[in-house]
Amino acid sequence: MLEITDVEAGYGPLPVLHGVSLRVVPGTITALVGPNGAGKTTLLRTVAGLVPVRAGAITLDGAALTRVPAHERPGRGVVLVPEGRRLFGDQTILDNLLLGASWRIRRDGLARVTAEAHALLARHAPALAPRARQHAAALSGGEQQLVAILRGLMAHPRVLLLDEPSLGLAPQRVGEMFALLQQIAAEGLAVLLVEQMVQQALRVASAAYVLDRGRIALAGAPAELLDHPELLAAYLGAEARA
Ligand code: ATP
Repeated sequence: MLEITDVEAGYGPLPVLHGVSLRVVPGTITALVGPNGAGKTTLLRTVAGLVPVRAGAITLDGAALTRVPAHERPGRGVVLVPEGRRLFGDQTILDNLLLGASWRIRRDGLARVTAEAHALLARHAPALAPRARQHAAALSGGEQQLVAILRGLMAHPRVLLLDEPSLGLAPQRVGEMFALLQQIAAEGLAVLLVEQMVQQALRVASAAYVLDRGRIALAGAPAELLDHPELLAAYLGAEARA
């Protein structure tokens, strides 16, 4: 389990997170929602080690992560799928997937990791499997998001941090992407999902947190929040999109 306890973090002199605590349980999706600028991306980046923790603690299955450098976190099981996907467009789909596994290629060998990448494509993105040697830039937004998530899985994470995976996707692709996340979580991963598509995120999540101005303003069962839209609207207003 990923445990974030009383975490304070920010940029330079600017504090953004003011004592945030939350848990992400393996086998489940935890939704993190909140208005623009609340600090959601900052929290994911803090868990990934890209923003330093000023106070508080982050642990994974009881082991301290707080001071582990960012580049060592994938090896500890913590992987961020950043907003905007950040694929290398002039590299092939396969190479983008291999980059996700770079920390373990030396350990497991390139042949085995390559075979895993093909297996992952065949399983989760059969339409892309025969196109593994195409450049990522040629893919649609939905396909790129899929590759970005699969690149994350290539690291063998225990915790997957997802920053707005629905952003820029055609509406019919959004449902497919959430279904994939449910499948991934059901296989035992702890998924922390930051989303603007609040209602859809709550429908696939087992726990939900609302972050507002760097503080957890509300935490609870997604069903309760869905049954009481006025609670969400108090923080998200018109942003609580269906
Ligand atoms: P959004 O939904 O708009 O992405 P968010 O909840 O993810 O919002 P953050 O992106 O974490 O919010 O931003 C929280 C605060 O931190 C904002 O005030 C933002 O301006 C500030 N901030 C974000 N990134 C940086 C940075 N690299 N340097 C300085 N300030 C930053």
